[in-house]
Amino acid sequence: MSYSNYEKMFKQLKAKPAKLKKYIKHNSPKERKFGISVNRCKRCGRMGGHISKYGLSLCRQCFREIATKLGFKKYN
Ligand SMILES: [Zn+2]
Repeated sequence: MSYSNYEKMFKQLKAKPAKLKKYIKHNSPKERKFGISVNRCKRCGRMGGHISKYGLSLCRQCFREIATKLGFKKYN
């Protein structure tokens, strides 16, 4: 299960510190050493279609958007 919305609740719970503490205790994502969710896109947080080659650590969608800015050139 993805946890992209986990930290979004912090903004709402900032006014209620006790509730925030409880929320973190019960809803924080599991610390993982291996598996698909270890490699997340550094730009959008997506787990699928990950590119770790050349130290990019981006998903394929983000790579397509910013490849030309990074200096990649499309040959066709
Ligand atoms: Zn991405």
